[in-house]
Amino acid sequence: MGKAAAALKRATVLQDRVRPAPAGVTILIYHRVGARTPMSVDLPTSLFDEQMAFLAERCRVLSLTDAAELLEAGEQPPDHRPHVVVTFDDGTADFVEEALPVLERHGVPATYYLATQFIDRQLPFPDDGVALTWDAAKEMVASGLVDIGSHTHTHALLDRIPPTEAAHELDRSIAVIETHLGVTPEHFAYPKALLGSPQNEFEVRRRFRTATIGRTRPNPWVGSDLHRLTRSPIQVSDGMDYFERKVRGGMRLENDVRDLVNRWRYRGASS
Ligand SMILES: [Zn+2]
Repeated sequence: MGKAAAALKRATVLQDRVRPAPAGVTILIYHRVGARTPMSVDLPTSLFDEQMAFLAERCRVLSLTDAAELLEAGEQPPDHRPHVVVTFDDGTADFVEEALPVLERHGVPATYYLATQFIDRQLPFPDDGVALTWDAAKEMVASGLVDIGSHTHTHALLDRIPPTEAAHELDRSIAVIETHLGVTPEHFAYPKALLGSPQNEFEVRRRFRTATIGRTRPNPWVGSDLHRLTRSPIQVSDGMDYFERKVRGGMRLENDVRDLVNRWRYRGASS
């Protein structure tokens, strides 16, 4: 981890002490498992295993559908363990090879958001990501632990494309998932966690039960918008210590600074 990133994590811990997290559902985002690339979000399988063991033992791990039901009810459940949802983005082969056996061993459910064109055409993802095959995706559905969500068809950024194009992106990904996997996706994740323009957000709300954006913070029991759920990204450098803090709803400052950096980085990019 770079010096600036390490300093930011330490500052964030201090800020959490001053401003404790509200109770609610923490949704985690993972991208890759197996450490096949030097990406900051490609976790060693052993670390992912340790994290899933922690969730299974110390937390109430929910499917996104169950979490949506609780958030809709709008009251804090009597169980005071952290409530956590595990999600994955994109659709790479390492999920079935590395992550799924770990999830099965610990009985942890997960939602996997697929950018369907990459799978359909077997296109490589950025950063050496090998696309899943439909057969592998069928295996994850058959496990009964993995719920398939949409992440658009081409990984399109919905803050910058016209509504007709956005509608096509969403409908195409839904149709492709239905055709190949026999399930209708209920959940949606905005690519790069960028909320759509107001018209595109309307297209998302019409089609899905939930939608997720970025932001490291829990979704409070009262007043959460199911179409703007926040998710906390997990990085290799979180190890177990920062991971546990994120699970408990902490590390919000890290996110606020990263948001600022990303806003600059994605400004003007088209995909
Ligand atoms: Zn993505």
